[in-house]
Amino acid sequence: CSSKELEFPQIFIEYYHGFSISKTIFTACELGVFDLLHEVQEPLSAATIASRLSTSEDGMERLLDACVGLKLLKVELKNNKGYYSNTDVSTMYMVKSSPKTLYYMAMYFSKVSYMCWHFLPQAVREGKCQYERAFGKSSKELFEAIYRSEEDMTNFIHFMDSTWNICGKDIVEAFDLSEFHTVYDLGGCTGSLAKQLVSTYKESTVTIMDLPKVVQTAKKHFVTDKEQQIHFLEGDFFNDPIPEADLFIVARIIHDWTEEKCIKLLTKVYQSCRPGGGVLIVELLLNEDKSGPVISQLFSLHMLVHTEGKERTPSEYTKLLTDTGFRDIKVKVFGKMYGAILGRK
Ligand code: SAM
Repeated sequence: CSSKELEFPQIFIEYYHGFSISKTIFTACELGVFDLLHEVQEPLSAATIASRLSTSEDGMERLLDACVGLKLLKVELKNNKGYYSNTDVSTMYMVKSSPKTLYYMAMYFSKVSYMCWHFLPQAVREGKCQYERAFGKSSKELFEAIYRSEEDMTNFIHFMDSTWNICGKDIVEAFDLSEFHTVYDLGGCTGSLAKQLVSTYKESTVTIMDLPKVVQTAKKHFVTDKEQQIHFLEGDFFNDPIPEADLFIVARIIHDWTEEKCIKLLTKVYQSCRPGGGVLIVELLLNEDKSGPVISQLFSLHMLVHTEGKERTPSEYTKLLTDTGFRDIKVKVFGKMYGAILGRK
């Protein structure tokens, strides 16, 4: 730390504003700023944007200026009046209709995570998730709390879907999975990772096992009949039989649950896995020495306020796998967000 930094603690100014940066981006998404600018394909003034999106002009101008500061919008001045347009990065990630959209993630973070994180002190004290305080509804089952309403479920699964459109290819190519022809994606949600897998491995079929209402929505809105390598099975992976397969994918599943439930699930997976088959865990990974990455550390807090689970290191996942019978564990850590761990039977 230099003496200049000690005099003016820039790092704290930036950290303290973290929430206002997030909320600015979420609000611009929610009000439809990026979508409107994408639709019209020409720079618009704050007054026009405010009138098209039914907001105050002053509030909108400040929001647009903050987005310019965050490099999500560009502004040109003509006769002292600003005209705003999307930057390339917002066209790619903020526009709702973009194939790589992060709009739904923004909406989930804004409408759900933001509310739960408000109760972080309580979550840390009690060691449990905060849906009841945030939304006033008590639920015995975690996914009853997450899917509080049809709209909440739809937002959540859209958010899940978007990640693998961006980094799913890296995951399915982390290891050579071509020998695994019958694949089950447990809690496979909308089939977004399954689509990446079948586009890389033409000989494989993937069955997505998920809760009935998720499967029904996925079939209706996310996977078409043309995608013949993808099938669905409605079920509860804790309480229903898991069919036999060569490979089981558990992507962002283990981090939702207590150690006990993870062992229960992985033991069932081991029993259903054909000899020579495998299990692929996909999760954010913590460094072995607990030094980072900060995104995984923050996500572990995110899991505290939202779920029963936590983020883990590669050796913690390796232990879960070896304790449930798997061997030859291979870990692939990417510089980006998610890592992959393959265990064999
Ligand atoms: N694997 C997907 C991904 O990475 O995008 C979704 C991960 S999401 C955090 C957890 C998924 O597990 C959801 O789709 C949820 O509906 C599903 N799920 C939760 N409990 C389940 C259960 N008991 N049986 C089957 N699926 C379940």
